[in-house]
Amino acid sequence: DVTNTKGNNFEDYFLKRPLLMGIFEMGFERPSPIQEESIPIALTGRDILARAKNGTGKTAAFTIPVLEKINVNKNNIQALLLVPTRELALQTAQVCKNLGKHMNVQVMVTTGGTTLKDDILRLGQTVHIVVATPGRILDLAGKGIADLSQCQTLVMDEADKLLSPEFQPIIEQLISFLAPQRQILLYSATFPMIVKAFKDKFLTKPYEINLMDQLTLKGITQYYAYVEERQKVHCLNTLFSKLQINQSIIFCNSTSRVELLARKITELGYSCFYIHAKMLQSHRNRVFHDFRSGKTRHLVCSDLLTRGIDIQAVNVVVNFDFPKNAETYLHRIGRSGRFGHLGLAINLITYEDRYNLYRIEQELGTEIKAIPPVIDKSLY
Ligand code: ADP
Ligand code: MG
Repeated sequence: DVTNTKGNNFEDYFLKRPLLMGIFEMGFERPSPIQEESIPIALTGRDILARAKNGTGKTAAFTIPVLEKINVNKNNIQALLLVPTRELALQTAQVCKNLGKHMNVQVMVTTGGTTLKDDILRLGQTVHIVVATPGRILDLAGKGIADLSQCQTLVMDEADKLLSPEFQPIIEQLISFLAPQRQILLYSATFPMIVKAFKDKFLTKPYEINLMDQLTLKGITQYYAYVEERQKVHCLNTLFSKLQINQSIIFCNSTSRVELLARKITELGYSCFYIHAKMLQSHRNRVFHDFRSGKTRHLVCSDLLTRGIDIQAVNVVVNFDFPKNAETYLHRIGRSGRFGHLGLAINLITYEDRYNLYRIEQELGTEIKAIPPVIDKSLY
C-alpha cells in the first residue's frame, strides 16, 4: 500500500529543479499516497491535518513542500519542523538536508541536551529551516535569539505526541512567535481527541487526509508468546537463535530495565546497544548513529525510540515488556515494516498483560496470534 494510486510523478508538482534532483538522488521514483495527497495541497499554503500509517513517507510529504517554498536568497528562518524527540530531530534534519542537497538551503537542528552557546553561534549565520524539539526552540525564541517572525510554515510531526500535556503549552507559545499568516501542517499515524481541540483553535479550514483504513499494520506479522517474567530473557535468547534477524529493536517499559536487559543480552554473546532518555545526549547520538550504520544487531530501548525512527534494516521488533496502550503499541511495532518492507513483531506476554493484549487487539482491529513453533522467513 505504498504504491501510489493517482499515478502522479514528482515532475507533476513543478518543483524547483535542484529539489527534484535531491528527490531522485534519494532513490524516490514516485510519490507515495500520503505524498500525493499532501504535496500539492501544502504547496497552496493550506493547513493540513494528515493521518497515515507508519513507514509510508510522511517526512518527505511535508519536507518537499517546505523545501519548495524556501527562498534561499533570504536570510531568515522560514520553516519550523517540530518533533518530539532529539533522535527524530536529527533524522528529520538529515532527510531535509538530503532532499535539499542541491538547493543551498541551510538547515539547523536544535534540541535539548546540547549547549545553548552552540545554537546562538549557529543562529548568527543563515538558517532557513529549523528542526527542533519544542522546549529548546521556545527558549531561543523567547530570549530573542531565534527570530521566528518570518517563519511561515510550522510542521508538527508525530503531532499527537506534540500535543500531549507535556508539550501543548510550549507549542501554543511557539505559535505566537510565528508569522501571523502561517501555515500549519500536522502529521501522525495516531490522532486522539486532543488533536481535535488544537485543530479547532489553531488551524484554518485544514485539508484533512486520512490514509489509515484497516491497513495500518499491513506487512507486519504479529505474534505473542506467553511467558513468566523470569523466563523472558530465556525466551528472547530462543528467539534470537531461531529468527533470521537483520536488526531488531527490543522495547522495555523502564530505563532501568533497558540497561539490565542490554547487559543480559551482551552476556548471552549477542552484539547489543541500549538507549534511553536518561543517557547523555552525546552518548545517545553515538549509539543511535552506530545502530543505524549497522554496527550492532540489537538495540534495547525505552519508548524514546517509539516514534518516527526509520531504520529500514530493522525487520524484527520485540516487546520485551508489553506496552500499556494501543498507540504506543502501534508506533513501536511500526519501527519494522518500513515503506513496503515486511516486519515481524513479537510480544512477550505475562499473566498481567493478558487483558491489555486483548484490549489493544480490539482497539486496533488487528490480530496478534500465538507464536508458532516455526516462523516462515518469507513473512519478514
Ligand atoms: P513515516 O514518517 O510515514 O513513518 P518515513 O518518512 O520515515 O515514514 O519514510 C519511511 C521510508 O520510506 C524512509 O526510509 C524513506 O526514505 C522512504 N520513502 C519515503 N518516500 C519514498 C518514495 N516516494 N519512494 C521510495 N521510498 C520512499
Ligand atoms: Mg515519521
